[in-house]
Amino acid sequence: MLKLPIYLDHNATTPCDPRVLEAMIPYFTKLFGNAASRNHPFGWQAAEAVEFAREQVAALIHADPAEIVFTSGATEADNLAIKGVADMYAARGNHIITVATEHKAVLDTCRHLEKMGADITWLSVKPDGLVDLDELEKAIRPNTVLIAIMYANNETGVIQPVRAISEIAKRHGVLFFTDATQAVGKIPVDVIRDGIDIMALSAHKIYGPKGVGALYVRRKNPRVRLTAQMDGGGHERGMRSGTLNVPAIVGLGKACEICTLEMENDNKRIRTLRDKLENGLLKIEGAVLNGNKIFRLPQVCNISFRNADENALMISLSKEIALSSGSACTSASPEPSYVLKAMGLDDELAKPSLRFGLGKYTTAEEIDFTIERVGEVVREKCENV
Ligand SMILES: *Cc1c(COP(=O)(O)O)cnc(C)c1O
Repeated sequence: MLKLPIYLDHNATTPCDPRVLEAMIPYFTKLFGNAASRNHPFGWQAAEAVEFAREQVAALIHADPAEIVFTSGATEADNLAIKGVADMYAARGNHIITVATEHKAVLDTCRHLEKMGADITWLSVKPDGLVDLDELEKAIRPNTVLIAIMYANNETGVIQPVRAISEIAKRHGVLFFTDATQAVGKIPVDVIRDGIDIMALSAHKIYGPKGVGALYVRRKNPRVRLTAQMDGGGHERGMRSGTLNVPAIVGLGKACEICTLEMENDNKRIRTLRDKLENGLLKIEGAVLNGNKIFRLPQVCNISFRNADENALMISLSKEIALSSGSACTSASPEPSYVLKAMGLDDELAKPSLRFGLGKYTTAEEIDFTIERVGEVVREKCENV
């Protein structure tokens, strides 16, 4: 039976997989030790659980466990990566290249550094959301220390040509950082094959708990060094002080293990549902798909409904279908999505956009209902304008 409301906002967060929760529970009560306690079994057990999780995370992205630094999520990982490089390599230069469609955690971190005197190049994107590789290469200068470009976009699902970007970075001796929060666990991410030097990920986007994530920091060819952004006990090889959140880390590890084993099958099914949804929605008059159709995550589609009123759309849909709209509806006059604006969409198209983010528990019935309901609402709202 169809149960309302339907959750189609998996790019914002996902429910915890019950197997993840089950793995975490003992670490709140019986196995409560501090992973930094070296002198007794309570600490040893906690440390062992953390090291096991480190292996599970590393396995999903083909890294070495010693290259994984646990953080409180992708926002912290983004901050640590960008500020950590800016501080550590300050003698080499202060120029960072990033892209206008990055997540706020990257954009605002770069903006912060800019205020502190760093030189930031904000690349634009092509209308399909992809970066222009020639423009990227031209932007590199002798004082460039970092290229920060996300793996896949959270609003459109557009996947950047990460391997080509890393080759450009390598050719110029510049470090390459990627926020892969949306890509990890959805598509195969391989830090060796992809040539990634630093990479952020988060548990709650892959059916793990909120408040935990990781930063991959390459140890050889080249060995990346980061200045810690938090001072304290020197946890995580000095890169991130603070008592480790053992239950959450265990959950992140389990979530990664499940992705390693199941994401291929899950995503085949999800992609089929997404394509069905997308084909259905694009039949609605005025509907336009945003972002490159091919280089895109399997579980998301972002569609603009020309002439529809974005507020009316959201108000009519939000009780039955949990969705994200392109506009930040926090104020009286909603601002259109900066991601869609950077892709060259005018307000007419950028404002009435909806992001449909499917997940592994999404059903065919939910998709059928969504196609029908969105169609009804758009037709109603268009007639009224
Ligand atoms: C969700 C998300 C983040 C933030 O992750 P948190 O773990 O919630 O801090 C950063 N980047 C991208 C691309 C995201 O989708």
